[in-house]
Amino acid sequence: MGEVRKGMLLVVSGPSGVGKGTVSRPLDEDASFIYSVSCTTRAPRPGEADGREYYFITEDRFREMIDAGEFLEYALVHGNFYGTPRKPVLEALERGQNIRLEIDTQGAEQVMGRMPDCVSVFILPPSYSELRRRLEGRGTETQEVVERRLANARQEIADCGRYQYLIVNVEVEEATRALLSIVQAEKQRASRYYPTVEE
Ligand code: 5GP
Repeated sequence: MGEVRKGMLLVVSGPSGVGKGTVSRPLDEDASFIYSVSCTTRAPRPGEADGREYYFITEDRFREMIDAGEFLEYALVHGNFYGTPRKPVLEALERGQNIRLEIDTQGAEQVMGRMPDCVSVFILPPSYSELRRRLEGRGTETQEVVERRLANARQEIADCGRYQYLIVNVEVEEATRALLSIVQAEKQRASRYYPTVEE
């Protein structure tokens, strides 16, 4: 039995602190997926490697890339620029490979506009108090920053109906299971899956 598959562009988004990374990390083990490494102007955190978590670049370089049209999307997120390089995404899709973006909501909206075939997933917190607890628990943000992110989260959650799929991250394993079942179903979608039945 032969088959041809078209690549899937998976966009996972949601408010800061909701657990996008933790929920979607198990997809690293799915060999049909590659992860889109973003560019950012923020400094690396301890343990982060250039080219693995992000490409860490200067603001001048980032602006050059914007001017050259090298980003599929980009946004200013909490004072730093973040962007998805366009070329690796288009090349992966052309090869029939799936590619996963983990980006903020401003970027997700740009991708949904430009790549209408993408699969869009929005992760919600179980409550605002739980989101606050998660943001404060990181211990890296000032109270003012936490308040600003919570205010942003209210607006982002109000707009969550723009996404195709919603997952409430009450418990990570359960949220991951939901994401994996969305991916499984989307792999079978007739518009990207062409099985051939032999004689
Ligand atoms: P962090 O600095 O904590 O790694 O990421 C901050 C925020 O930027 C997170 O919400 C993350 O999902 C988002 N982000 C990471 N890469 C990109 C990107 O390429 N584009 C956009 N728009 N957001 C991104």
